[in-house]
Amino acid sequence: MKLFIHRKDLRTDDLNAFDYLRNQDDESFHLFIYDPFLLRQGREKEHSGINFLRHAAGLGRQYREAGKTLHLAHGKPAEVVDYILGQMEGRIDEVVVHRDMTPYAIDRDRSIRKVTEGYQVAFTQLTDHLLIDLPRFADFTGKSEPYKVFAAFHRRWVEFMNEFPNPPSALTVADVKVSNHSMEWPEAYRVPEELLEVEPAEDPHVLLDGFLQERIAEYGEHRDEYEAYEPSHLSSYVAVGAVSIRKMYDAAYRTAQSGEWIRQLCFRDFYLYRAVYESHYFTYEKVYDLSPLNEYHFERWCRAETGIPIIDAAMTELNETGRMPNRLRILTAMFLTKNLQCPFTRGEAYFRRKLLDYDNIQNRGNWLWCASLGENAAPYFRVNNPVTQSEKYDPQGDYIRKWLPDLKKHSKDIHQPRLDAIVDLKASRQAAIEVYKQILASRQKD
Ligand SMILES: Cc1cc2nc3c(=O)[nH]c(=O)nc-3n(C[C@H](O)[C@H](O)[C@H](O)COP(=O)(O)OP(=O)(O)OC[C@H]3O[C@@H](n4cnc5c(N)ncnc54)[C@H](O)[C@@H]3O)c2cc1C
Repeated sequence: MKLFIHRKDLRTDDLNAFDYLRNQDDESFHLFIYDPFLLRQGREKEHSGINFLRHAAGLGRQYREAGKTLHLAHGKPAEVVDYILGQMEGRIDEVVVHRDMTPYAIDRDRSIRKVTEGYQVAFTQLTDHLLIDLPRFADFTGKSEPYKVFAAFHRRWVEFMNEFPNPPSALTVADVKVSNHSMEWPEAYRVPEELLEVEPAEDPHVLLDGFLQERIAEYGEHRDEYEAYEPSHLSSYVAVGAVSIRKMYDAAYRTAQSGEWIRQLCFRDFYLYRAVYESHYFTYEKVYDLSPLNEYHFERWCRAETGIPIIDAAMTELNETGRMPNRLRILTAMFLTKNLQCPFTRGEAYFRRKLLDYDNIQNRGNWLWCASLGENAAPYFRVNNPVTQSEKYDPQGDYIRKWLPDLKKHSKDIHQPRLDAIVDLKASRQAAIEVYKQILASRQKD
């Protein structure tokens, strides 16, 4: 029998592991572990944790509806695996998971592997969440060095996907021989009730179909108009693997005028690729000297009290709902790192708690870009002006009115900094350019 553990793949259709298990023609014991590390520091009460719990509940519901058994446990993954392998007394010969590339996930899987080795059980890691197969892509490009910037990567990615499209599988959990072997869980591994008392997440395919039918053609031209235009809103599903990235790509590929949206899926692959090949991806804060930066205004930024209307409106939406449109993520991140000269790591950590769609690799890659650090980054002198951007992308200021009702009565001046704004945009922009020039020069040699 196999032990299959769900992690960031909270769905029951088109999973590479299901194809793999089906080919083994063996029974599999399916498990989801509530990992206390991922829910630490009260994250289960924050938007990102709630999203995760809702999708975990959704996964349980999908198994029930298919008449299949999904076991739930709470604890350190390696310890839970140790317990199961011990209980099953030699009946499990292989543990199967999907690979993840974050430092925590790599460490966690090293510990699981160690446990499986102790039982002489195989440990198989499959790749599920990328559109491209990384080793095959490396062969295809024939490059000895990985791509550092997105534009060049994107060109080759499109060619690669045309040649090796990676179509979705039609298999679902109904096609897998899921074991209904029961398991007696000791108190230590029982899932606390409060983690289970959430509303299961909805089906993402309704969102995907609606977006493809109604809005994808305008995506390239209008995606930055955060009040007038709605993108797919699929990222909170993608982040936990509740929707298959292959299905998204495949459906978009067969839809007219989808190139710009597919480019965003490529962006996601690019950050996953860089996380694997860029040795400093998770440690840039140690590569640059960030000591010229400070945290004076960080709390005001978090509390949406900067006095710059579009920044405060965006932070209010984030705090209240866990959502923030991409253009406003760029503006708030640049404002924090550049105008307020705050280390990107503080904003990154705040988004980790607050974003519904929080994803370690995507979040970090985007924060690095905004802070002009790392290989694929905005030029250090790029400091978007939140006022002119607000005027450009939402001329009537409706977004600001929605999230800052106190400003409802303002007309054209709605975009302008309030009298008590915490920084002068022009002066802080100039100062940021000087400071970031210095920070980039401080980069340690490899
Ligand atoms: C500072 C900052 C932090 C971010 N943190 C996250 C994060 O934690 N998790 C996350 O999923 N996205 C993050 N993003 C990227 C982006 O803002 C969101 O993916 C996007 O807003 C999601 O909306 P959507 O699902 O409607 O996407 P759409 O615009 O419909 O795009 C489709 C899909 O493409 C992917 N995508 C789109 N834009 C990007 C991008 N810039 N980078 C990587 N993938 C992208 C997402 O999976 C998205 O669901 C961040 C961006 C910035 C500037």
